[in-house]
Amino acid sequence: MEFDWTEEDLSYRSELQDFLAEELPGRWEGATAVLGSADNAEYSRRFAGLLAEKGWLTPHWPTEWGGTAATPWMLAVLGEELWSRGEPRGPQYMNVNWIGPSIMAHGTPEQCQRYLPPIAAGDVIWCQGFSEPEAGTDLASLRTRAVLDGDDYVVNGSKIWTSYGDIADHCYLLVRTDAQAERHRGISVLLMAMDSPGLVVRPIPGMVGEHSFTELFLTDVRVPVANRLGPENEGWSVVREALSFERVGAPRWARAAYVLDETVRGALEQGRSIDPVAVEAVGVAKTACEAARMLCYRVIDERARDLPPSPHANVARVAMVQAERLVADACAALEGNEIMRYGSDSDLQMRKSLAAGVAAGTYEVQLNLVSRRHLRLPKN
Ligand SMILES: Cc1cc2nc3c(=O)[nH]c(=O)nc-3n(C[C@H](O)[C@H](O)[C@H](O)COP(=O)(O)OP(=O)(O)OC[C@H]3O[C@@H](n4cnc5c(N)ncnc54)[C@H](O)[C@@H]3O)c2cc1C
Repeated sequence: MEFDWTEEDLSYRSELQDFLAEELPGRWEGATAVLGSADNAEYSRRFAGLLAEKGWLTPHWPTEWGGTAATPWMLAVLGEELWSRGEPRGPQYMNVNWIGPSIMAHGTPEQCQRYLPPIAAGDVIWCQGFSEPEAGTDLASLRTRAVLDGDDYVVNGSKIWTSYGDIADHCYLLVRTDAQAERHRGISVLLMAMDSPGLVVRPIPGMVGEHSFTELFLTDVRVPVANRLGPENEGWSVVREALSFERVGAPRWARAAYVLDETVRGALEQGRSIDPVAVEAVGVAKTACEAARMLCYRVIDERARDLPPSPHANVARVAMVQAERLVADACAALEGNEIMRYGSDSDLQMRKSLAAGVAAGTYEVQLNLVSRRHLRLPKN
């Protein structure tokens, strides 16, 4: 097993670190800030533009669409460095990691020309309209209906927990186009403009913060047929493939490890006495972050060798959630009552670690997948 980074990866990491040291203020609030707030969104738009200028916003994209065909390991280095600084790309993360690649894979030449260059330039924000009040884990039961009328689909229904819905320019929207078909069939993907008449976006206060979620209400919203991504009624396979671009998802362990290191550093600098319970919690959390890191690397290695997605991705996702939760425990042990102060690092770490077990497929569902795919246990 080869654990060393190549010279090229090391120099890429050091170039990135120099850039981040210059561009991000000393301790950028993004490490702990509430994603989706107006300040956060504005900052991420500016920052994404800077990354794009350096070729670091979509480095894994083909050169034809503004990428540099970077290796999966270089992409991993980029993700680690940005997440350990609080993910200053903010909402751009979805655009560049799976929405853009999904448009490349299934879009018409016109859709590619229209949507990809603004993503590669960091000029746009997309949101993901999947979940509905009665369709979360069981996404295939979604009911938002799109009915063909001339050159448009007329869409009615609602979406919930839509991150960035209030600041997004476009939505990657899942709709039901055939109500009679078996539920995994009859779903299509529409690329919807967020200023479409009939669309109402309402913020929902969430546990991650006041600005983290929205609800979308669609009443006779007209979306041109030309904005459908992939064949009609085959959206389920389009979206499954799109999400497989993610595999392990965001390297959340990198942010958790950063918060842990910073919290320990703060405690030491203030000369606080650290009791044995906190010492143990910090050790356990640090180990969990390292374990998550190594398990993520196994998945990146599979990708670098062009292997298909495997159950290792589910194991890595579980380890990442555990690392986040253990860091929250360690921060609480180190900082005591500080965790009760709204907006403190420990408070945010705790809330983000709760959200980590729900977003992008819940922790329990990942465990189901590990038991079935990895351990070959029967389905209950
Ligand atoms: C931070 C964050 C950001 C999000 N952003 C978006 C977004 O941008 N767009 C979007 O569409 N959605 C988004 N979501 C919603 C997210 O995708 C859903 O919350 C998630 O899919 C779970 O669905 P649900 O909330 O309906 O819970 P449910 O599916 O109702 O699950 C409730 C509980 O039951 C458990 N459960 C369900 N089924 C099983 C099972 N088969 N076996 C064992 N346990 C089970 C779950 O693990 C969970 O604990 C976001 C959520 C969070 C937390």
